[in-house]
Amino acid sequence: MKKLILSSSNPHKINELRSILKGLPIEVISKEEAGFGDLEVVEDGDTLEANAKKKALAMAERSNEIILADDTGLFVDALDGAPGVYSARFAGEDCSYSENNKKLLSALSAVTEGRRTAHFETVIAIVWENGSVQTVEGRCDGVIGYEAQGDNGFGYDPLFIVKGTNRTFAQMKDEEKNRISHRANALRKLREVFEERL
Ligand code: IMP
Repeated sequence: MKKLILSSSNPHKINELRSILKGLPIEVISKEEAGFGDLEVVEDGDTLEANAKKKALAMAERSNEIILADDTGLFVDALDGAPGVYSARFAGEDCSYSENNKKLLSALSAVTEGRRTAHFETVIAIVWENGSVQTVEGRCDGVIGYEAQGDNGFGYDPLFIVKGTNRTFAQMKDEEKNRISHRANALRKLREVFEERL
């Protein structure tokens, strides 16, 4: 059984990863369980890939296990790709999800239907035991609605209407979101990588 450390304290992400890698000879360990709870990495890269790699490599400096880190952003076409890599702090440092959503709606107030296209993207970086780095990506397309709809999920979910569904992520049960989301698409690719490698 190989050990894999996820550079995250988010229990949701740990469970999702354990579930997608089920059946493979890998034990998924959280950052805290690995004893790196104090490791803080400033996410100041220009791209999701740069941030994911930075987080994974910072932990790889302290451990010889396989390391994984991810970064996600919402890219809105009418805003030239904003908030993108700044999705967590679109409305400012330590802002809430609802402040981000409010700012997004106001930035798009003059943008008409048909021009409100957007996509989520997730990049996962893997640092293997020999130090080599690999990334996988996942994407989900949609449009930004005119108001928040639905109570599930987090972040920009209430505004993101998933292409082909007419519903926001926040109007979907976790199960449905976790089948079609950007993260699910990246995680499926990750499983393929592990199946080939192990
Ligand atoms: P992280 O890289 O997973 O921490 O995500 C960065 C930011 O992107 C979060 O703070 C959220 O604002 C947003 N975000 C990430 N994933 C999702 C999602 O699945 N739905 C809605 N917003 C998300």
